[in-house]
Amino acid sequence: MAISDTAVGELASRFSGDLVRPGDDSYDSTRKIFNGMIDRKPALIARARTTADLAATVRFAAAAELPLAVRGGGHAIAGFSMIDDAIVADCSLMNEVTVDPKGRTITAGPGCRWRDVDSTAGAHGLATPGGTISSTGIAGFTLGGGLGFLAKKFGLACDNLIDAEVVLASGDVVRANERENTDLFWAIRGGGGNFGLVSSFTFQAHPVTDVTFAMFMWPAAEGLDHLKFYRDYFPDTPPEVVALGAFATAPPLPFVPEHIQGTEILLMGVIYIGPQDEAEPWVKPVSDRAPAASAVIPMPYMFAQQLLDSSAPEGVRNYWRSAFMDTAPDGALEVMAEAGPKKGSHLSMIQLINVGPSPEVDNAFQGREHAFLYHLISAWEDPADDEQNIGWNTKLAQDLAPFSSKGAYLNFIGDEGSTRVRNTFGPKYDRLVELKRKFDPNNMFRYNQNIAP
Ligand SMILES: Cc1cc2nc3c(=O)[nH]c(=O)nc-3n(C[C@H](O)[C@H](O)[C@H](O)COP(=O)(O)OP(=O)(O)OC[C@H]3O[C@@H](n4cnc5c(N)ncnc54)[C@H](O)[C@@H]3O)c2cc1C
Repeated sequence: MAISDTAVGELASRFSGDLVRPGDDSYDSTRKIFNGMIDRKPALIARARTTADLAATVRFAAAAELPLAVRGGGHAIAGFSMIDDAIVADCSLMNEVTVDPKGRTITAGPGCRWRDVDSTAGAHGLATPGGTISSTGIAGFTLGGGLGFLAKKFGLACDNLIDAEVVLASGDVVRANERENTDLFWAIRGGGGNFGLVSSFTFQAHPVTDVTFAMFMWPAAEGLDHLKFYRDYFPDTPPEVVALGAFATAPPLPFVPEHIQGTEILLMGVIYIGPQDEAEPWVKPVSDRAPAASAVIPMPYMFAQQLLDSSAPEGVRNYWRSAFMDTAPDGALEVMAEAGPKKGSHLSMIQLINVGPSPEVDNAFQGREHAFLYHLISAWEDPADDEQNIGWNTKLAQDLAPFSSKGAYLNFIGDEGSTRVRNTFGPKYDRLVELKRKFDPNNMFRYNQNIAP
């Protein structure tokens, strides 16, 4: 659907950013997002530079009765940030980060990626819990929860959000924190982009400098035994120890012997938040398991935050499924071990992550009661391989369903419908619906894991 020149001209008169329309030179590059499967053509991409631009965009879409999508880092695998015929409120240009080293806070624009926040805060020896791939947008990540290397020690990203500026569906701009609009503040910490467009994020920062990164690999055929060890060992380690178990393809890293590179493996990645001598006792039980490749490397946190970037290239085709599990029983691990070597693409992975259980926090995020989260990542390049890759992933999700909770980590799934969203929020769902009715009764913000009013 085309928007008239007059209407766009009227918006342009009160907009300081760039308005990109079909036919413009930058239209095709601007509408690209992380998942290469998403090829959508919005009516207008409003690349905001200020909060006033975002408010003008929201008002414009409401007045024109046009669908509104919001783009942070563009990493939602369902492509919620780029919608056919919609107005896209694109935050990408609003990527400024400021740090208050004394007050230990970080304030970041809604277009920031984690690399922007990590590098600016890292220069002050500070960090706030962020994502494990540095291109991920802070906005969608934080609003949906936000799990990363610092989560076990300092909580999720949403738990560290202490103040937000929010453009409401009316176009009004408000603050949300422990003193102002406390109900909105509760909802945006884990309830996703349902309640408004967050135009500024202020996070609690923590002193984090040195970390120890360790990686171990075994042939996938031996993977089941090592994955059982992962399940049994890591839940009892201290909050400084964060680990991932994954069936993957061995990457061409310098410490991986050439004959192993490109083969199917069980990988264990461990991050210790602290120096190597403190990490050693926790890493030793893993290194004692005779891995085929291993490395233990001390490094600045900022560097560790970019170490896995090459495993998630932008623009390739992606299909993901995920769910929480309470116990990760042998049966579930056997299903993973059977499917791992058959994943069909070197970019695909079956990840098992020990995420909890952790104490409840009074915000909208739900799921802390679970010990494990699995993440089935299919990623491939050739559209001709769509059926095979999606088929492998959906079959695996079906086989794991009997071991899975009804709720998912919504940041790790595609568009799986309203029942999935309801099941995920469980006991918090009714309160979220009430708040949706209060802040967005017409469901202006609906391209997300939607809580319908
Ligand atoms: C390569 C990769 C690595 C990842 N790693 C992790 C990880 O380590 N841990 C983890 O927890 N998750 C991870 N994720 C998942 C990630 O948290 C979600 O995809 C998240 O939605 C990304 O946020 P975004 O701003 O980049 O995405 P977008 O697609 O821009 O936005 C996601 C959703 O949030 C809404 N939204 C965006 N900005 C705003 C805003 N300013 N105000 C209101 N609503 C907004 C959008 O409309 C959309 O519904 C990863 C994803 C990818 C693709």
